[in-house]
Amino acid sequence: MSSKSRRFQVHLATSLFGVLALVVFLFIIALLVSVPLLQGISDKSEVTRKQLLPELVSAQRNALKTEKIYAYLQAIYRAQNALDERNLRLEAQVLTQSFAFESDQVLLEETTALLASMREMIRLRQEQRQLKHLSENLFPEPLSRAELATQLLFSQLQAYPISEVRSERLHQLFSTELRQSSPLWPEISDYVQQIAALNDQVDQIYREALQRQEQLASYLSSDAALKTQELALEIRNDVERLGRYIVYFILIAACVAGVLLLVFRHAVQFPIETLVRGLKAIRPDSPVGVELQPVFFKELDTIRHAIEDYSQMTRDLHQLNAQLHALSQQDGLTGLANRRCFDTTLAEEFHRALRHGQTLSLLLIDIDHFKQLNDTYGHLIGDLCLKRLAEVLQHYTQRAGELAARFGGEEFTLILPQMGLQQVLEMAERIRLEVSELNFDEVNRAYPDLPPLEMQVSIGVAHYLPGDHLDQESFFIQADKALYRAKAEGRNRVCEGV
Ligand code: GH3
Ligand code: MG
Ligand code: MG
Repeated sequence: MSSKSRRFQVHLATSLFGVLALVVFLFIIALLVSVPLLQGISDKSEVTRKQLLPELVSAQRNALKTEKIYAYLQAIYRAQNALDERNLRLEAQVLTQSFAFESDQVLLEETTALLASMREMIRLRQEQRQLKHLSENLFPEPLSRAELATQLLFSQLQAYPISEVRSERLHQLFSTELRQSSPLWPEISDYVQQIAALNDQVDQIYREALQRQEQLASYLSSDAALKTQELALEIRNDVERLGRYIVYFILIAACVAGVLLLVFRHAVQFPIETLVRGLKAIRPDSPVGVELQPVFFKELDTIRHAIEDYSQMTRDLHQLNAQLHALSQQDGLTGLANRRCFDTTLAEEFHRALRHGQTLSLLLIDIDHFKQLNDTYGHLIGDLCLKRLAEVLQHYTQRAGELAARFGGEEFTLILPQMGLQQVLEMAERIRLEVSELNFDEVNRAYPDLPPLEMQVSIGVAHYLPGDHLDQESFFIQADKALYRAKAEGRNRVCEGV
């Protein structure tokens, strides 16, 4: 197992929790910022709809009414008789009273003051008329020349609009001649002076009333409109701010998403792909196990360890399997191939010989009188003999394709591909000779009372030549018969099958 370990590793679950917390945090920030703004916009719109717009409409209506009052004021100022003045004042009074239902205190106070100004102007005009009337009493009957002049003076005064009577214009109203001719000029002049003085008062009140009306009109038109305009401006600013926040939020979210994607690719996707490649690269027969680089997330690193362990385990299992397979093909006592291995190899080699048109030879080797040997020296010595024979046979099968096997009991076989018959017979003879000359000095020393140990073998040889009409079984029987013949002809010999 690899001993590499990354210095800094984190849990994937912890990281996912962190990302989730970050997203929730961003969302809460967005809510905290946007909800009050949206609430503000909604409240301001509501105020505009429910309060300011009706106020604006009402202010406009009131402005129109005050315009009318202004017209009445002007009309009263120019009216020539008390009846007109009274009618105009009553009209203005009706309008003013309609403001009594308004909650606007300024409007109520100002219009009441305007009405008071009208009353005062009317009172002054009345006073002027009384003065004019009093001046009429100055006129005596019957008329003298002087009196005629006085009458002329008086009729000129009567013809002149009362509001135009001004002290500085007396010389325009009455000629110097008339003034000098009339004995009553001083008295008339006194009345005219009083009327002119009252005119100054009326003018003063009129100017003040006009000023007040102008202020009121501008107050009415500006207050609600200004408030509405301010509120509209605030709403626009809020909306712009909200728009900016949304853009910032989208930018931040895009950056966070980009960073997360990069982290995911480098810390999750690529490592997983590497791990999958590592898993696919596991080969049971590979000389070395799979080794992978440590990864950032602990969970993935655990998988990496598991893959490395699995790779190692696969290799161990493969080796064990190979060992087991070898054991299953091996004879336990002699170490040669066993019967199972012999059967498989013979089938393979026979088919190869058929396919490629090659020769194949089979030797069946049987120890002579082995039962007797066992009985004389014991089975352990019998086993020793089997092993020594196996060593000899092993020595003669060194080339590829050649096999020495224990067929069973004290019977052995050799499979020898691509050898000529003569060559095989010579080899069999050499084997027989070598076995018969085996040295068992240690056994003989151990059993001095027994005759010296010797071992001999009989060998049956089968030889396949390309073109022979022979199957595998017949091939084997040929060798078996040859062995039988060797036994029958006296043992310790080599016989060729036919
Ligand atoms: P022949 O010359 O006709 O072959 O006579 P033989 O005695 O060799 O043949 P037989 O079939 O009569 O006896 C074979 C003997 O081989 C019998 C058995 O005790 C012995 N044997 C078989 N396997 C083993 C073994 O693994 N170890 C030992 N020590 N003896 C074995
Ligand atoms: Mg036998
Ligand atoms: Mg035998």
